[in-house]
Amino acid sequence: MDQLKRHRVYDLLKNDSTHLIGGMVNVKGWVRTRRGNKKVAFIALNDGSIIHNIQVVVDVQAFQDDELLRKVTTGACISVNGKLVESQGKGQAVEIQAEAIKVYGTADPLTYPLQKKGHSLEFLREIAHLRPRTNTFGAIFRIRHALSFAIHQFFNDHGFYYLHTPIITGSDAEGAGAMFRVTTLDLKKPPLTEKGEIDFSKDFFGKETNLTVSGQLEGELGALALSNIYTFGPTFRAENSNTSRHLSEFWMIEPEMAFYDIHDNMDLAEAFLKHLVAYIVEHCEDDLAFLQKMYDNELMERLRMVLDNEFVRLTYTRAVDILIQSGQSFEFPVEWGMDLQSEHERYLVEQSFGKPVILTDYPKGIKAFYMKMNDDGRTVRAMDVLFPGIGEIIGGSQREEDYERLQSRIREMGIPEEDVWWYLETRKFGTAPHSGFGLGFERLMLFVTGMGNIRDVIPFPRAPQNAEF
Ligand code: ATP
Ligand code: MN
Repeated sequence: MDQLKRHRVYDLLKNDSTHLIGGMVNVKGWVRTRRGNKKVAFIALNDGSIIHNIQVVVDVQAFQDDELLRKVTTGACISVNGKLVESQGKGQAVEIQAEAIKVYGTADPLTYPLQKKGHSLEFLREIAHLRPRTNTFGAIFRIRHALSFAIHQFFNDHGFYYLHTPIITGSDAEGAGAMFRVTTLDLKKPPLTEKGEIDFSKDFFGKETNLTVSGQLEGELGALALSNIYTFGPTFRAENSNTSRHLSEFWMIEPEMAFYDIHDNMDLAEAFLKHLVAYIVEHCEDDLAFLQKMYDNELMERLRMVLDNEFVRLTYTRAVDILIQSGQSFEFPVEWGMDLQSEHERYLVEQSFGKPVILTDYPKGIKAFYMKMNDDGRTVRAMDVLFPGIGEIIGGSQREEDYERLQSRIREMGIPEEDVWWYLETRKFGTAPHSGFGLGFERLMLFVTGMGNIRDVIPFPRAPQNAEF
């Protein structure tokens, strides 16, 4: 029965399949539901290619094999040969009249965890090995794919090169967060130096190494040769922050551009985000409609808010004034010099302006060593993009390109020069003004899906106490 070419459910329901009507087709997938009576059975079959199920109609009496039909229960994987016909029922254009069914894998109704619908997201997190088979996670992972594709497409169309930066790094200068150590030393009896400290010269790389928190420093090396590059890879932070917006392993997109100042940087960030949102609105209609209906009835409205508005640009100092004058009582009271919390960021976006906001010129004390100093000596050329419902979605800056000034910032902040000599050398040989930013991929996923918890927008979330699947 396997001679027929398999059609994806997508091809039958989404693409025009009228030329196939009346002919035999094969579909394979997982049974979502089975209902009916002694005469006729309706199987809703899903193969993950699209959120919709194809309806398979079985004439139970004509179908000799009772034993086989009993195995066709929710969760079972089957292959169906049948005639494609115009659907009698509502909700779908075509359906399949089954002629032969093969069961690849049964799913015992007594123990299959997704037997019933309507499980909580919390429960589904505990069965991350099976949750891709739900409508919700199917929709999310298809959107995740589309968004990844749109990112590469945008940069390719704009003359950027995809640069692969290392995942294992020998420097922890970025200071973006606590790091995960990479070692092959025997933790029970590590080699010791004469002083009794762990002797990392005996470790695999001959020095201490960690998982990267950002590809930016290496990205800059690329930009100072190829002009426009971007990275898109996993990053790791060992912060013990159990929030709905932080993961221990997340994906980051980091473009880095020679000859861009902070204004060019902001223009790029705005065009980039708008392109990505527009791409999803155009290509993921069915999945978005599902998420809007099930989880967030303001989803499309927020996506439109990004597409239809110019982002507001203002300085950190202005923003602090607005927050203080708002009279709003925040959990963390606002004062100049503090790092803004997501409650402040969201107030600016959702209450003050009703549009995405780009904040610039942050106090140097709360930003990284590589950001270009402003003439006032107190602020740096940073830019954070703030989104509704999320807060910070992008962090970026114009970079310090002056050798002496960068070196004195490195000393001021106590960063060992032997860790960043290679980075400093780019300012010694053919330095250039340049800028870049980092977009947290899962923060953007939260925004475009309307989901509330970052663990639900990545297939296998890594978070404190959580690395089972
Ligand atoms: P936050 O203050 O929200 O922790 P950050 O200032 O540490 O963010 P950056 O170091 O600027 O963030 O990282 C760049 C981007 O990566 C952020 O704008 C955000 O979108 C994303 N990001 C940062 N930390 C995480 C994390 N732990 N999980 C998921 N995304 C993150
Ligand atoms: Mn952080």
